[in-house]
Amino acid sequence: MVHLKNSEEIELMRISAQIVSRTLGLIAEKVEPGVTPLELDKLAFEYIKDQGAVPGFLGFGGFPNTLCISVNEAVVHGIPSSKSLEEGDIISVDCGAIKNDYYGDHAYTFAVGDISAEAENLLRVTKESLYLGIDQMRVGKRIGDLGFAIQTHAENQGYGVVRELVGHGLGKSMHEDPQVPNYGKRGRGKKITNGMVLAVEPMINLGTKDILMLDDDWTIISADRKYSAHFEHDIAIVEGSPDILSTFDYVEDALEKKGANPMRMSLESIATIG
Ligand code: MG
Ligand code: MG
Repeated sequence: MVHLKNSEEIELMRISAQIVSRTLGLIAEKVEPGVTPLELDKLAFEYIKDQGAVPGFLGFGGFPNTLCISVNEAVVHGIPSSKSLEEGDIISVDCGAIKNDYYGDHAYTFAVGDISAEAENLLRVTKESLYLGIDQMRVGKRIGDLGFAIQTHAENQGYGVVRELVGHGLGKSMHEDPQVPNYGKRGRGKKITNGMVLAVEPMINLGTKDILMLDDDWTIISADRKYSAHFEHDIAIVEGSPDILSTFDYVEDALEKKGANPMRMSLESIATIG
């Protein structure tokens, strides 16, 4: 059952989403060669606590940390390690926070120092596919339209779209109906309706779409061990159109300050690449 949210609930969810956004902004400042994922995790834990919020992933299904940090071939659900990040790595940082009983859940994939042109293109296309999917979140469309937009853009580049893990409804639970696959057929699936709040999160692999799970029973990796990227936003449907509750502004400002490529995008800017 889809739990539709009223405007009051959507504003509460914006608060939760933006706690995550600011957490990712802090992480963006710190990501560089030599830093360990565990150090980033500690930072996120402290910041979320300082906001009077609760880390959403810590203890969820037994997950041991505040952040999921998935390095290089890891797709999602990576457990933060004490192994230093290296120049050329890419890391997906996925963060959850609960405030006023509502979850925020969003993610960004960062470049560690200078990365290859191939990796940079993967990040750009995955981020574009997120916005192209969000642009389909309009009353009159269906969940399949969203998946179709993401899948088409990624596959046009020869990338693999992960099938086994999907986006989801979000609210007082982290995973609500409906499921939001990053693939699909136009005109299929549940209707997009006002009051839906969805976490849309394309997971795009440089090579095969197939995945494996590591022995830690959490970390998902690409089966061919090529790089994988992951971007996630929380979006409400308001008056027929998408209202992105989370923001990459903090991340993009931090990246720009460091002289890194902020890859700024918006629904307006991707309108020309669909
Ligand atoms: Mg997430
Ligand atoms: Mg999610």
